[in-house]
Amino acid sequence: MIQVTRPAMPSLEEYIEEISELWESRWLTNMGIKHQMFEKQLGTYLGMDNTVLFVNGHMALELLLQALNLHGEVITTPYTFASTTHAIVRNGLTPVFCDIDPVTFTIDPSKIEKLITDRTCAILPVHVYGNICDVEEIDRIAKKYELKVVYDAAHAFGETYKGKGIGCYGDASIFSFHATKVFNTIEGGAVSFKDPALETTLKDLKNFGFHGYEEVCGVGANAKMNEFCAAMGLCNLRHIDEVIRQRGLRSDRYRERLQGIEGLQLNPVQADVTCNYSYFPIVVEEALFGASRSEIFTMLQEHDIMARKYFYPLTSAFDCFHRQYDILKTPVALHVSKRVLTLPLYADLPLEKVDEICDLILSCRK
Ligand SMILES: *Cc1c(COP(=O)(O)O)cnc(C)c1O
Repeated sequence: MIQVTRPAMPSLEEYIEEISELWESRWLTNMGIKHQMFEKQLGTYLGMDNTVLFVNGHMALELLLQALNLHGEVITTPYTFASTTHAIVRNGLTPVFCDIDPVTFTIDPSKIEKLITDRTCAILPVHVYGNICDVEEIDRIAKKYELKVVYDAAHAFGETYKGKGIGCYGDASIFSFHATKVFNTIEGGAVSFKDPALETTLKDLKNFGFHGYEEVCGVGANAKMNEFCAAMGLCNLRHIDEVIRQRGLRSDRYRERLQGIEGLQLNPVQADVTCNYSYFPIVVEEALFGASRSEIFTMLQEHDIMARKYFYPLTSAFDCFHRQYDILKTPVALHVSKRVLTLPLYADLPLEKVDEICDLILSCRK
């Protein structure tokens, strides 16, 4: 069975070596030595020393929004993982859905300004599939209207734009180190941020709001990364450049085989971006290609290949929101979500499998 992704792991020996001290220290969580080392190395790797670790990407985002003390409306997109929208709603904020760009699948900045009201407090764009948002235009709009900018960079680990770590753009960015992501700590996440004053607030909020042993200065949560996850992070960070290189080779092979095929739209190659090859989505236009997204999905499944309809449905269409958002107001996002399929991609996916998947897809055409 070929899954859409497969976590990168260090050798068992390397991991055992990394965790062996924990049997002596018996310090398993609460910002121990592995947590401290990993947080520091991660900041260096991301090119942003202001980086705080979390138990996962979602809690990083949820507590970041709390730390920024936002109230009112947040402009975001529905073409994302549940986490982005849920973090907004769980903070008592109102998501206002902006449409996406049809090429990069990220927020369309030309549609942001008409959604701004006197209640708007922030913009929360997503670097979808590692495609970098139009950070310059978003920055211009945010400055003009005095809005905060928080990026969901869960897909953009290790990427740079114009030579700077992607976490340097906007007021803050969150990363996810879930097992299914390019870089994993089993589960984990982080916030990179500009204002150094946020550091204490984020660190307090992830530990119930405790500031020291007796003072509780915020209604925080428990969102600390434990030592075993931090140790996994230390190991995986040693190999991340090679993992990204290997993913790139697979991504290139897909591209060679599938580009120029009528009815198949591929992910763009962006200028000034060092890509992490986090996903390989295709957008299938049935009338031109000769088969639908669902037909390809089912046919691959019959060959034990698990592609994913990622992102489908739009978050604004989730049952839990009881149709309170009009999905027709984001027609591009709706169009793409009905046609997208992300193909298996990971560092040790055999190139012959990539060829087989491409052969199967191309054989679907009627
Ligand atoms: C994975 C993901 C998250 C959440 O990260 P977790 O570490 O799984 O909590 C948030 N946003 C996007 C776009 C993601 O893909």
